Amino acid sequence: ELGEVVNYVMRIVEPLASEKNVSINVDVDEGIFVEGDFDRLVQLLLNLVDNAVKYTFAKEHGPKEIWLRAYAQNNSAMIEVEDTGVGIPEDSLKHIFERFYRVDKARSRKMGGTGLGLAITRFIVEKHGGTISLESEYGTGTILKVKLPLKKVFE
Ligand code: ATP
Ligand code: MG
Repeated sequence: ELGEVVNYVMRIVEPLASEKNVSINVDVDEGIFVEGDFDRLVQLLLNLVDNAVKYTFAKEHGPKEIWLRAYAQNNSAMIEVEDTGVGIPEDSLKHIFERFYRVDKARSRKMGGTGLGLAITRFIVEKHGGTISLESEYGTGTILKVKLPLKKVFE
Protein backbone atom coordinates (compact mmCIF):
# COMPACT_ATOMS: atom_id res chain seq x y z
CA GLU A 1 0.00 0.00 0.00
CA LEU A 2 1.67 3.21 -1.14
CA GLY A 3 0.50 5.13 1.91
CA GLU A 4 2.53 2.77 4.10
CA VAL A 5 5.62 3.31 1.98
CA VAL A 6 5.14 7.08 2.16
CA ASN A 7 4.65 7.01 5.94
CA TYR A 8 7.81 5.00 6.39
CA VAL A 9 9.81 7.41 4.25
CA MET A 10 8.30 10.45 5.97
CA ARG A 11 9.37 9.20 9.39
CA ILE A 12 12.95 9.17 8.13
CA VAL A 13 13.06 12.41 6.13
CA GLU A 14 10.68 14.71 7.98
CA PRO A 15 13.16 15.54 10.81
CA LEU A 16 15.96 16.15 8.30
CA ALA A 17 13.77 18.36 6.14
CA SER A 18 12.47 20.52 8.98
CA GLU A 19 16.02 20.97 10.24
CA LYS A 20 16.75 22.48 6.80
CA ASN A 21 13.54 24.56 6.81
CA VAL A 22 12.18 22.58 3.87
CA SER A 23 8.50 21.70 4.23
CA ILE A 24 7.06 18.54 2.75
CA ASN A 25 3.40 18.52 1.72
CA VAL A 26 1.93 15.04 1.49
CA ASP A 27 -1.11 14.32 -0.66
CA VAL A 28 -1.44 10.57 -0.89
CA ASP A 29 -4.63 8.71 -1.75
CA GLU A 30 -5.38 5.73 0.47
CA GLY A 31 -5.70 2.13 -0.61
CA ILE A 32 -3.42 2.14 -3.64
CA PHE A 33 -1.69 -1.23 -3.90
CA VAL A 34 1.27 -2.24 -6.03
CA GLU A 35 3.00 -5.61 -6.23
CA GLY A 36 6.57 -5.36 -5.04
CA ASP A 37 9.26 -5.34 -2.42
CA PHE A 38 8.43 -2.95 0.41
CA ASP A 39 12.05 -2.14 1.28
CA ARG A 40 12.98 -1.46 -2.33
CA LEU A 41 9.96 0.83 -2.76
CA VAL A 42 11.02 2.70 0.37
CA GLN A 43 14.52 3.05 -1.08
CA LEU A 44 13.09 4.30 -4.38
CA LEU A 45 11.03 7.01 -2.72
CA LEU A 46 13.69 7.88 -0.18
CA ASN A 47 16.16 8.62 -2.98
CA LEU A 48 13.68 10.96 -4.66
CA VAL A 49 12.70 12.80 -1.50
CA ASP A 50 16.33 12.98 -0.36
CA ASN A 51 17.20 14.70 -3.65
CA ALA A 52 14.23 17.04 -3.38
CA VAL A 53 15.26 18.12 0.13
CA LYS A 54 18.96 18.35 -0.70
CA TYR A 55 18.58 20.36 -3.90
CA THR A 56 15.87 22.60 -2.46
CA PHE A 57 17.95 23.40 0.60
CA ALA A 58 20.82 24.24 -1.77
CA LYS A 59 18.81 27.07 -3.32
CA GLU A 60 19.52 30.37 -1.64
CA HIS A 61 16.28 32.25 -2.23
CA GLY A 62 12.61 31.62 -2.71
CA PRO A 63 10.23 29.01 -1.32
CA LYS A 64 11.52 25.76 0.10
CA GLU A 65 8.64 23.40 -0.48
CA ILE A 66 8.21 19.84 -1.64
CA TRP A 67 5.08 18.00 -2.70
CA LEU A 68 4.76 14.27 -2.40
CA ARG A 69 1.74 12.80 -4.21
CA ALA A 70 0.37 9.34 -4.88
CA TYR A 71 -2.77 8.52 -6.80
CA ALA A 72 -4.24 5.92 -9.11
CA GLN A 73 -4.72 6.72 -12.77
CA ASN A 74 -6.17 4.19 -15.19
CA ASN A 75 -4.16 1.02 -14.49
CA SER A 76 -1.22 2.79 -12.93
CA ALA A 77 -0.11 3.87 -9.50
CA MET A 78 1.47 7.30 -9.79
CA ILE A 79 4.03 8.71 -7.38
CA GLU A 80 5.27 12.27 -7.82
CA VAL A 81 7.90 14.24 -5.99
CA GLU A 82 7.96 17.92 -6.87
CA ASP A 83 10.36 20.48 -5.47
CA THR A 84 11.18 24.18 -5.62
CA GLY A 85 14.90 23.55 -5.75
CA VAL A 86 17.80 24.49 -7.96
CA GLY A 87 16.46 22.63 -10.99
CA ILE A 88 18.46 20.81 -13.64
CA PRO A 89 19.97 22.46 -16.73
CA GLU A 90 18.47 21.21 -19.96
CA ASP A 91 21.67 19.67 -21.31
CA SER A 92 21.99 17.55 -18.14
CA LEU A 93 18.48 16.09 -18.26
CA LYS A 94 19.39 13.18 -20.50
CA HIS A 95 22.26 12.09 -18.20
CA ILE A 96 20.51 12.37 -14.87
CA PHE A 97 19.75 8.63 -14.43
CA GLU A 98 23.31 7.56 -15.30
CA ARG A 99 25.47 6.10 -12.56
CA PHE A 100 27.75 8.67 -10.87
CA TYR A 101 26.37 11.55 -12.94
CA ARG A 102 26.09 14.82 -10.99
CA VAL A 103 25.30 18.24 -12.43
CA ASP A 104 27.64 20.35 -10.35
CA LYS A 105 30.60 18.23 -9.34
CA ALA A 106 32.17 20.68 -6.90
CA ARG A 107 28.93 21.42 -5.10
CA SER A 108 27.87 17.79 -5.13
CA ARG A 109 31.11 16.70 -3.52
CA LYS A 110 30.54 19.17 -0.72
CA MET A 111 27.02 17.89 -0.18
CA GLY A 112 28.03 14.24 0.02
CA GLY A 113 26.50 11.28 -1.78
CA THR A 114 27.73 9.27 -4.73
CA GLY A 115 25.58 10.11 -7.74
CA LEU A 116 24.04 6.66 -7.62
CA GLY A 117 20.64 7.54 -6.14
CA LEU A 118 18.72 8.06 -9.36
CA ALA A 119 20.40 5.15 -11.15
CA ILE A 120 19.32 2.85 -8.31
CA THR A 121 15.86 4.41 -8.33
CA ARG A 122 15.39 3.78 -12.03
CA PHE A 123 16.61 0.21 -11.61
CA ILE A 124 14.05 -0.43 -8.86
CA VAL A 125 11.26 1.20 -10.87
CA GLU A 126 12.03 -0.93 -13.93
CA LYS A 127 12.29 -4.14 -11.88
CA HIS A 128 8.75 -3.34 -10.70
CA GLY A 129 7.56 -3.01 -14.29
CA GLY A 130 7.31 0.77 -14.12
CA THR A 131 8.72 3.88 -15.72
CA ILE A 132 10.24 7.09 -14.37
CA SER A 133 10.30 10.50 -15.99
CA LEU A 134 11.29 13.98 -15.00
CA GLU A 135 10.58 17.58 -15.81
CA SER A 136 12.76 20.36 -14.57
CA GLU A 137 13.25 24.05 -14.99
CA TYR A 138 16.70 25.31 -14.09
CA GLY A 139 16.48 27.68 -11.13
CA THR A 140 12.80 26.92 -10.47
CA GLY A 141 12.29 23.28 -9.56
CA THR A 142 11.95 19.68 -10.55
CA ILE A 143 9.28 17.03 -10.69
CA LEU A 144 9.95 13.29 -10.77
CA LYS A 145 7.10 10.99 -11.83
CA VAL A 146 7.05 7.27 -11.19
CA LYS A 147 4.44 5.09 -12.83
CA LEU A 148 3.97 1.55 -11.49
CA PRO A 149 1.51 -1.17 -12.47
CA LEU A 150 -1.54 -0.86 -10.22
CA LYS A 151 -2.52 -4.02 -8.38
CA LYS A 152 -5.77 -2.85 -6.85
CA VAL A 153 -7.47 0.14 -5.26
CA PHE A 154 -9.52 -0.07 -2.07
CA GLU A 155 -12.08 2.67 -1.76
P1 ATP B 1 23.32 10.20 -3.97
O1 ATP B 1 21.88 10.09 -4.39
O2 ATP B 1 24.12 9.02 -4.34
O3 ATP B 1 23.44 10.61 -2.55
P2 ATP B 1 23.26 12.44 -5.77
O4 ATP B 1 22.03 12.97 -5.12
O5 ATP B 1 24.27 13.43 -6.24
O6 ATP B 1 23.99 11.40 -4.81
P3 ATP B 1 21.49 11.26 -7.75
O7 ATP B 1 20.41 11.16 -6.76
O8 ATP B 1 21.70 10.11 -8.68
O9 ATP B 1 22.89 11.53 -7.04
O10 ATP B 1 21.26 12.56 -8.63
C1 ATP B 1 22.18 12.84 -9.70
C2 ATP B 1 22.33 14.33 -9.89
O11 ATP B 1 21.11 14.86 -10.40
C3 ATP B 1 22.58 15.13 -8.61
O12 ATP B 1 23.94 15.21 -8.29
C4 ATP B 1 22.01 16.49 -8.95
O13 ATP B 1 22.96 17.24 -9.67
C5 ATP B 1 20.85 16.15 -9.88
N1 ATP B 1 19.54 16.10 -9.20
C6 ATP B 1 18.87 15.00 -8.79
N2 ATP B 1 17.69 15.30 -8.25
C7 ATP B 1 17.59 16.65 -8.30
C8 ATP B 1 16.58 17.61 -7.90
N3 ATP B 1 15.44 17.21 -7.31
N4 ATP B 1 16.84 18.92 -8.13
C9 ATP B 1 17.98 19.32 -8.74
N5 ATP B 1 18.96 18.47 -9.12
C10 ATP B 1 18.77 17.16 -8.93
MG1 MG C 1 20.45 11.55 -4.63
